[in-house]
Amino acid sequence: MRATNQDAHVLLPERGIYVVADGMGGAQGGEVASRMAIETIQESYQEPGAASLTSVIAEANRRIHEAADDPGLRGMGTTTVAIAIVPEEPDPDTESTADDGIEPPQHLLVINVGDSRAYLFRDGGLTQLTDDHSLVAELVRDGRITAREAEAHPQRNIITRVLGIYPEVQPDLWPVDPMRGDRYLLCSDGLFNEVNDDQMTSVLRRLEDPSEAAGELVRLANEGGGRDNITVIVLNVVDDGGAASKASAALAGEARGSSRSSRGDVAGFSTALGEGLSDDVLDSIRSGSKPGRGQRRAARTAARSTRSRLTWRVLLFTLLLIGVIGGAFATIQWYGTSTYFVGFDGNEVTIFQGRPGGLLWIDPTLEDGTGILRGEVPERYVPSLEAGHQVPSLARAKQYVSNIERDIAAITTTTTAPTPAAVTTSTVP
Ligand code: MG
Repeated sequence: MRATNQDAHVLLPERGIYVVADGMGGAQGGEVASRMAIETIQESYQEPGAASLTSVIAEANRRIHEAADDPGLRGMGTTTVAIAIVPEEPDPDTESTADDGIEPPQHLLVINVGDSRAYLFRDGGLTQLTDDHSLVAELVRDGRITAREAEAHPQRNIITRVLGIYPEVQPDLWPVDPMRGDRYLLCSDGLFNEVNDDQMTSVLRRLEDPSEAAGELVRLANEGGGRDNITVIVLNVVDDGGAASKASAALAGEARGSSRSSRGDVAGFSTALGEGLSDDVLDSIRSGSKPGRGQRRAARTAARSTRSRLTWRVLLFTLLLIGVIGGAFATIQWYGTSTYFVGFDGNEVTIFQGRPGGLLWIDPTLEDGTGILRGEVPERYVPSLEAGHQVPSLARAKQYVSNIERDIAAITTTTTAPTPAAVTTSTVP
């Protein structure tokens, strides 16, 4: 329903970065700001990594802020959410040198300023990876309104962090370990203000092709009212360097058939934007190992010998049965321990591995204390911590803790800053 498009986006698979920006500000300000953010990333993000990602966001902020000196562009700003494939930081505990000839493993970084969003679709469920920097999101985090009330709140367009308004900006940065089968969704608020989580989940379950999924989401947002510009990027992880399949391959006895090293593989993606792009960006690096050859050969040998056929059948059946039961246990074990959450252990904020409350026989285990006491935690984190704030990786749990620490530091700074002495006056009639 909009005459202009203040959203902008870019897909740079060769540098492994995908970006959505949603501009705001009168006249042409919104269009200019979001386009400047995208152009800065295109120009200046050359070397994949966390440092260059945060510096390019700072650079975009600076450029937009300076350009906003122009009276016609005053007050312009833009959200930016990006997902980047980056080499993992080297582990200081291992003594590998930079030139040992092995490519470092890769993971994903999500960076966010504003209320555009990144979602992860994994195991059939949708999780919002980013925290909205918006007034209503803060009210929800403070427990002052419900998520449902936020959806229809008259001030849901007010954002609290944005590129271009202030000389400096603090982005949120979330590391994510990709798994084959993951789908990542980047979008502007034109999508989630019209399409709810259940609808998004249903589309991502139904349409495997990222192009079709993105197109369908845009169609649903327009059907829901289309009151804002809508930008959607869908990324499919088609190769994770074997991380997701290692456990099951070992169980199925196929590990000896595969000599691929998990190191050095590139996280592969297929991507699509809106209603257009094809999905073959990095499909060609998809893994090519074929499980099952050993079992097929065993079955053929058995068929030739009538005397041993029954024995082979029983053996095969038994192996399959063990495989199925073992697989089920392994899946539950994996599901119960594959995530982390941040919660209270007594009085201390603590990182746990597992699921809050546990799963069947799997109790959450204590991963790391933080030294942060309940009394220090800003109010808005408390309900989430009490329920157990779930995150997909240890790195993300640590990021969440450091966000809490940052907020504590901010509060401390505020409360210890010198304040003018109160002046008491009394009036005599
Ligand atoms: Mg918008």
